[in-house]
Amino acid sequence: MEDNTDKTDLAVHDKLNTLIKELDRGGKLLIRRDLELSRANEKLRYLDQAKSEFVSVAAHQLRTPLSGIKWSLNLLLAGDLGTLSDEQRTFLLKCYESNERMIALINDMLSADRVESGKFRFDLKPAQLLDLVDNVLFEILPVARDRHIKISFGTKTEKIPLVLMDAEKLRGAIQNLLENAVRYTLSGGSITVSFSADQGFVTMVVKDSGIGIPISQQGKIFTRFFRATNAIRKETDGSGLGLFITKNIVEKHGGKLWFESEQGKGSTFYFSIPIAL
Ligand code: ADP
Repeated sequence: MEDNTDKTDLAVHDKLNTLIKELDRGGKLLIRRDLELSRANEKLRYLDQAKSEFVSVAAHQLRTPLSGIKWSLNLLLAGDLGTLSDEQRTFLLKCYESNERMIALINDMLSADRVESGKFRFDLKPAQLLDLVDNVLFEILPVARDRHIKISFGTKTEKIPLVLMDAEKLRGAIQNLLENAVRYTLSGGSITVSFSADQGFVTMVVKDSGIGIPISQQGKIFTRFFRATNAIRKETDGSGLGLFITKNIVEKHGGKLWFESEQGKGSTFYFSIPIAL
């Protein structure tokens, strides 16, 4: 009887030993895996930083000659280097516009990189959002007028509470939303801008009667470089970086950005940021 118990004890002991060895092996394997993952992670971080530096250096290097071209074209267009024929002026204006688009694209690439790598420093101060919007509209209204698009205020808001903002960064975000509204609205269309203040947030709404965003592509709209098929058809220029940057800027203000859209009917973009207390 005792002999049998001893045998059972021994068998259990052996089994336990095997299990402990397996556990030990499993543990070592996990530690090795963890180490491998940490190394892979470190490598990815290094590559990401290298990519970021490459974009930054390349973009800065490209900006200098483009500024030189802009300067020379300005001289030519101003007639400082001689009188131009109408045809010469038309072609030079086309060069000027292409050059401007290239500068804008490079600036977008630099901003997207800064946003991603956390290099963008935000200095939030209480300020009036309406002043900023007026300022942006001053530049956008002539472009809208040229395209026969009407921009108006919804419920004309005389005053809204001050918000906490980094004016320079938020200016870029507002400019992008308004430029998109103009870019993706057909001639004869309209854009309405309105504001509201509620539960500690000010919300700005940009509603357009434009081409809208196909429902199947709405989920990708804030992804870098994404452009909807109908947008590419209407407007071949565009980096697909604007909304990615805009969303990041709004979120850095402790706010959020969202939209509603129906293809062929129009889009409404909203963003909310906290009121300054
Ligand atoms: P871009 O305008 O340079 O293409 P954005 O990142 O600003 O880049 O916008 C991404 C895409 O979102 C656009 O290409 C377009 O498909 C869509 N989009 C943005 N705003 C609007 C709008 N107001 N109406 C229709 N589509 C829009």
